[in-house]
Amino acid sequence: MTIGEQVVERCRTLGSGRYSEREDQLFRPWLSRSFFAVQATLTEWMFAAGMQVRTDAAGNLIGRYEGTEPNQPAVVFGSHIDTVANGGCFDGMLGVVLAISVVERLDLDKKRYPFAIEIIAFGDEEGSAFPVSMITSRAVSGEVNSEDLALIGPTGTVQNTLAGCGLDGEELSAAERPQGDILAFVEAHIEQGPVLEACNKPLAAVQSIAAQRRGTVTVKGCAGHAGTLPMAMRKDALAGAAEAIIGLERIVNAFPGGAEGGLVGTVGRLVVSPGGSNVVAERVEFSLDIRAGKKSLRDAAVEEVEAEFVALTARRGLELTCEWQQDLEGAQCSPPLVELMQEAVRDEGGLNKPLVSGAGHDTMVMARRWPSVMLFIRSPRGGISHHPDETVMNEDVDAAYRALCSFLEHLNLSQKN
Ligand SMILES: [Zn+2]
Repeated sequence: MTIGEQVVERCRTLGSGRYSEREDQLFRPWLSRSFFAVQATLTEWMFAAGMQVRTDAAGNLIGRYEGTEPNQPAVVFGSHIDTVANGGCFDGMLGVVLAISVVERLDLDKKRYPFAIEIIAFGDEEGSAFPVSMITSRAVSGEVNSEDLALIGPTGTVQNTLAGCGLDGEELSAAERPQGDILAFVEAHIEQGPVLEACNKPLAAVQSIAAQRRGTVTVKGCAGHAGTLPMAMRKDALAGAAEAIIGLERIVNAFPGGAEGGLVGTVGRLVVSPGGSNVVAERVEFSLDIRAGKKSLRDAAVEEVEAEFVALTARRGLELTCEWQQDLEGAQCSPPLVELMQEAVRDEGGLNKPLVSGAGHDTMVMARRWPSVMLFIRSPRGGISHHPDETVMNEDVDAAYRALCSFLEHLNLSQKN
């Protein structure tokens, strides 16, 4: 059995039965019964790989493999072990299980680096338990506050749920790590997109996590009879919204540096009122989601999209408002670490340039405090994820394993220079 086969088998094992809250699908929110069942099994595997294991105040499971000297700063591998409802068994879990195999190899070879190696299995990335995501990586980076503790989910507040699990809710912030504890943060994760499959490449380094802007656009016109209101006299909110959506697509497609910079724009929800087939639409509300690898690129695109919306509104005699609800900064990976990861990826026949991650990850949080980098592993079947069909190929996981081992080697050499 190759390492890749073993890692894939382990992820599949943790994807059903007592490791899920539901019999017919995988669903494992933070602090659920199945969540702790997964932690127990991961603990066994970490022990077997020569690690000391503990949980922190946020319920993160942390394995530690000491360096040549004890108490040295650590290179931290991490990803999440919670899932969405009806999720797949590789999102998050692959990065944790793969890292255990890397440490297992070091332990078998009795090899230690001048730095320690830690694996953090983050508890909450998806936000499946409470209406906010990445609580547990934010606890590690020192970004949680009393508002997080007061959030309410199906099990009560965060604070009460933690207390019910024997964790002291008051002390969520005790999970924070001092700056000097962590030398580098590395997250291996399935791509959750179609790019690597389309390029026929197993791996890619990731240079940044996209900055996101999400909002709601409302277009107001005048309702009217579909038969009696002449075309020239109409203020059709739906035709205006349609033009806005096509305008968004045109701007994003043509934006200078957009394709390389990971610029994407999406309207995924449209509400038309009054919504009758024989009534000219009076009001349309649609969602707007614009992302790019760099905040500056995203903001430049947002500005142009807004200007386009204002112009078409004036032309059509409509009223338009744009309300922004979410502004996530995204994160830049550390250029020297990206370079090291890119080298390791190249040696495995991976993509010859780093990607932008359009999806959010724990790395987004960790990179705000520590030098960080990600490794993407090809997602077959068109990149499907957050779905039971989510999968990986054994040989890609083997390649990822070798890439992480060589990344550690080169990181060690770079520390000496
Ligand atoms: Zn994930």
